[in-house]
Amino acid sequence: MLFHAFLIKYAEIAIKGKNRYLFEDALVRQTRIALDALEGEFQVCKERGRVYVYCPEEYDYEETIEALKRVFGIVGICPVVIYENKGFDRMAEDVVSYMQAQYPSFRESFKVHCRRADKSYPMTSMEVSAELGARILDAFPGCSVDVHEPSLNLTVEIREKIYVYSETIKGPGGMPVGTNGKAMLLLSGGIDSPVAGYMIAKRGVKVDAVYFHAPPYTSERAKQKVVDLAKLVSRYSGPMRLHVVNFTDIQLYIYDQCPHEELTIIMRRYMMRIAEQIAQKSGCLGLITGESIGQVASQTLQSLAATNEVCTLPVYRPLIGFDKQEIVEISHKINTYETSIQPFEDCCTIFVAKHPVTKPNIKVIQRSETRLDEKMDALVQTALDTAEVISIGE
Ligand code: ATP
Ligand code: MG
Repeated sequence: MLFHAFLIKYAEIAIKGKNRYLFEDALVRQTRIALDALEGEFQVCKERGRVYVYCPEEYDYEETIEALKRVFGIVGICPVVIYENKGFDRMAEDVVSYMQAQYPSFRESFKVHCRRADKSYPMTSMEVSAELGARILDAFPGCSVDVHEPSLNLTVEIREKIYVYSETIKGPGGMPVGTNGKAMLLLSGGIDSPVAGYMIAKRGVKVDAVYFHAPPYTSERAKQKVVDLAKLVSRYSGPMRLHVVNFTDIQLYIYDQCPHEELTIIMRRYMMRIAEQIAQKSGCLGLITGESIGQVASQTLQSLAATNEVCTLPVYRPLIGFDKQEIVEISHKINTYETSIQPFEDCCTIFVAKHPVTKPNIKVIQRSETRLDEKMDALVQTALDTAEVISIGE
């Protein structure tokens, strides 16, 4: 069946008063961005407190639904068939033919719900619902009306035209990206950080990303993998800027100057410092990482404390209490898993010590870092100055 439009349902509980406009405008904007990537023309409109996507041209139904399922803030997607508004009898015929096309051998219970945008219509909503119900009962022997728990809810909206729909496809929920500020994701090539970015974007936060690259120890393909992951995340979060920081000289300098078992922790502290500087310049209000307690040596509570200590921006760690398996499940759902497991080296693994400290003492780490005083400021400045910015999803 050809659907002419989609009614977009969103949760209205959290959006009273002025916030409602911000929420709806962001929802319209993000829906447009998601559909722009597809073939065909779509019109996304806000009409009397509802959002509709109109499809005036040919389009791919499955692909359109998939795109809408990635727009945070949408809780339901109802495919709509639109008929001309030419009096009650014509409407009743159209509704019956809708049912015949959608549910050819319908024998279940149903309920008709009529909404009139045009209150001058000569029948009340109740009368229209009852009369349409009677026509459906006639057309489908064996079906029944159940106003309390029908197996099919058929909605008929009387507007300039007649809108008919009966199915609600589940949306992703969350809040439209852009309603809750922006944050900087530390994106590595692993499984966790893309999932972390997805989860924070789901709460309405726009996401930019930073990747620490260590050529020649990490290859172009490792970098390409991160670009690919950023693209996959941006299918949900919308366009993002990916900052690629050359971290090699900083890593080598730490390797030369500091005890090797502290290397990972000191490196991670510099990643956070640099990410924070880029974040502040880009108007980000926080950092996002894919850390989860106990997952690896650098994610014990002591290590997290040592990493956190250098940050002044809040660090959001949406996976902090998740098991690996739970994270993997989400990565499958958002389609990042296959890319994440491609076997390219990570800048952390190359310099990793045989026995990294698992309970770093912040005082000891700070003392080790004083050995970096001579050159580190200049190296950090160079890393910032030479960072490459890649626009993703624009
Ligand atoms: P992931 O699967 O996200 O790579 P991980 O289990 O490998 O995580 P770590 O290597 O300890 O864990 O990294 C913890 C977090 O630090 C990552 O989730 C990511 O947010 C950030 N991070 C690690 N390496 C990099 C990198 N090269 N560039 C940017 N961020 C990084
Ligand atoms: Mg990693």
